[in-house]
Amino acid sequence: MTPALLVKGLAFAYPDGHQALYGIDLRVEPGERVAVLGPNGAGKTTLALHLNGVHTAGAGTIEVAGLPVTKVNLHEIRRRVGLVFQDPDDQLFMQTVGEDVAFGPANFGLKGAELDARVHQALAAVGMTDHIDRSPLHLSGGQRRRVALATVLACDPEILVLDEPSANLEPVARRELAEVLLSLGRTTLMVTHDLPYALQLCPRSVLIDDGVVVADGPTGDLLADSELLAAHRLELP
Ligand code: ATP
Repeated sequence: MTPALLVKGLAFAYPDGHQALYGIDLRVEPGERVAVLGPNGAGKTTLALHLNGVHTAGAGTIEVAGLPVTKVNLHEIRRRVGLVFQDPDDQLFMQTVGEDVAFGPANFGLKGAELDARVHQALAAVGMTDHIDRSPLHLSGGQRRRVALATVLACDPEILVLDEPSANLEPVARRELAEVLLSLGRTTLMVTHDLPYALQLCPRSVLIDDGVVVADGPTGDLLADSELLAAHRLELP
């Protein structure tokens, strides 16, 4: 089967010369939910930003559903890879929730009834239909994060990439978001520091440190390995 995501030998240095990734290999099958774990500065966000075309690889390749990202334009990469940023403010900038969710699919050519249906579907998937006419500014942190998720779901991506989805959420919002993510049934790569969230949502985890993959396996096995966690400055609460 063609993998949903295939990353081979991905290396990247920032313009100041800081080498953030040293040859990342990662394969994600369709329907899998995989957590990307690692201490501060490990390279998790840098990896996520490559998948969405924000950064361009110094070396290596990335394929999304069999298509090399270098072969398609940025517009198309962003339709295929739904990146949900850590801060919903980076994704919500229109006057209403409905306008924010319509922005992506409208950009990709949907209009009229088809566009409306897509917006409603995406908002229903995150439990935010009733808020369609509200300003995103008037929503709670958890609601804003779910609307940010709807903005990418509305583009029907091949893979969702979530950067720290549970950061700064209070327990109820955290649980609501987990329920939504589990109900979507979508291929998902989730960058997180939140080890219990990884365990709850992702059967598999990849541990990155210093720009290399140091472990890849069932999340329960990784988190049960106290020596591995300690070696990479990770701690279960
Ligand atoms: P965190 O969990 O703290 O968000 P991370 O695993 O997501 O960390 P990255 O943000 O990908 O790590 O950073 C990887 C390395 O690249 C770090 O050493 C970081 O300091 C460095 N880095 C990140 N952004 C830049 C930048 N714009 N310019 C130079 N170096 C950067």
